[in-house]
Amino acid sequence: MIRLGIAAWTNLIVVRPAQTRRCVVIGAGVLGAAVAARLATAGMRVTLLEADQPGHGTSRWSFAWVNSNDKGPKAYHDLNQAGIRAWAELAPALDGAAWYRPVGHLELAASDAECSARVRRLTEWGYSAHLIDAAEAAALEPALRLPEPGACAAWFPGEAYLLTEPLIQRLVASATAHGATLLTGDQGRVTGLARGRVRTAAGDVVAADEIVCCAGRWTPQLTALAGPGGPVPLIAWDTPGSPAPELIVRIGPVRPDGPVRVIHTPQLALRPHSGGLLHLEAPDADVDLYTPDPDLRRWATEGLHRARRAVRGLQHAVVAGYQVCVRPLPADGQSIVGRLPGAEWLYVAVTHSGVTLAAHLSRLIAAELTADAPSAELAPYRPDRFAGTAVPTIGR
Ligand SMILES: Cc1cc2nc3c(=O)[nH]c(=O)nc-3n(C[C@H](O)[C@H](O)[C@H](O)COP(=O)(O)OP(=O)(O)OC[C@H]3O[C@@H](n4cnc5c(N)ncnc54)[C@H](O)[C@@H]3O)c2cc1C
Repeated sequence: MIRLGIAAWTNLIVVRPAQTRRCVVIGAGVLGAAVAARLATAGMRVTLLEADQPGHGTSRWSFAWVNSNDKGPKAYHDLNQAGIRAWAELAPALDGAAWYRPVGHLELAASDAECSARVRRLTEWGYSAHLIDAAEAAALEPALRLPEPGACAAWFPGEAYLLTEPLIQRLVASATAHGATLLTGDQGRVTGLARGRVRTAAGDVVAADEIVCCAGRWTPQLTALAGPGGPVPLIAWDTPGSPAPELIVRIGPVRPDGPVRVIHTPQLALRPHSGGLLHLEAPDADVDLYTPDPDLRRWATEGLHRARRAVRGLQHAVVAGYQVCVRPLPADGQSIVGRLPGAEWLYVAVTHSGVTLAAHLSRLIAAELTADAPSAELAPYRPDRFAGTAVPTIGR
């Protein structure tokens, strides 16, 4: 990359013309980092622009459960199942020991009827799902206090969780090892978009043959910079009562014989986290971006108490931290991937379940952009499905 001082109004960053095409990826969350790594590995000249630090957006706080446990319709289930396989394939080449945890998922069900029906449906769809009894649940997760005998428990051995911070570090390192440039802070914060050109807050302009927006929940702000293209409708996350924000809680210390799997009880989702902590989410924690801190602290304490009731050996655990974090929630719940109608030079990728999906989506996106051949698997997820329709919204 050469910086030329030829224009008075800006610095012009010229990504060297090449045998390869130049691609700007906006956002270094799990999705953008994976896309940048795939494109750079495929030989594209990649510039990865990140307003903050890689992995400090939604991906940092995600429950990061890799699953296709309750996702429909069938095509979306299959996409997520391909996501599970894609991480298993990527892990050996990307120091998976640091971030890949294929430990399975144990569920103590809230509703026997719903759980049994889901296990039956998933089995019919070729997914590994089993109803188990209390003795089997105890053998799988000795730290867990089990409910009354006869309650429904289910075991999903193919599911996993990821530690997103070390994962994203490795994805970015893989991209840069294949020639990508990472720019962060003002140099990486995108403030203007036009065909073939990306302007940053530092006043630089990066030239590109392809621009891929992986800005997570900030995607609508980025697509608005592209002019009259779109829409890319996400559920508004900054309105009071929005379902997009969620409270995550980290507690510890956890004894070495503490839980090892992804666990759901009717009152709690939990999994191990690095540093001897557990990561918790209480599904009924009623928070948004305006919830006062004392209420957040009260929910965090409630999570700790629920965890103590669910798991043995947590009597010395305390709340190590809590954070409201925000899901990017496409208005119809499905991924949005492809060229923006009206501004086809901008390729958009935004999704919930982005941790599950990033390894597979990034492979499909890289194949489309390098071979210029549309992916049939991505056909249901194109942004043009929203064109000319009233944008649905979901409230609480
Ligand atoms: C509480 C919670 C639990 C979740 N649980 C799961 C789960 O169990 N399994 C699962 O698969 N998914 C889960 N998700 C969803 C998943 O975490 C997200 O889909 C995923 O992290 C989105 O990744 P991303 O890379 O698209 O976005 P992000 O990680 O948010 O990355 C976007 C990046 O874009 C950058 N950016 C924004 N604006 C600009 C700009 N102008 N210029 C440059 N950079 C910019 C941001 O700084 C950020 O780093 C959960 C989410 C939440 C909130």
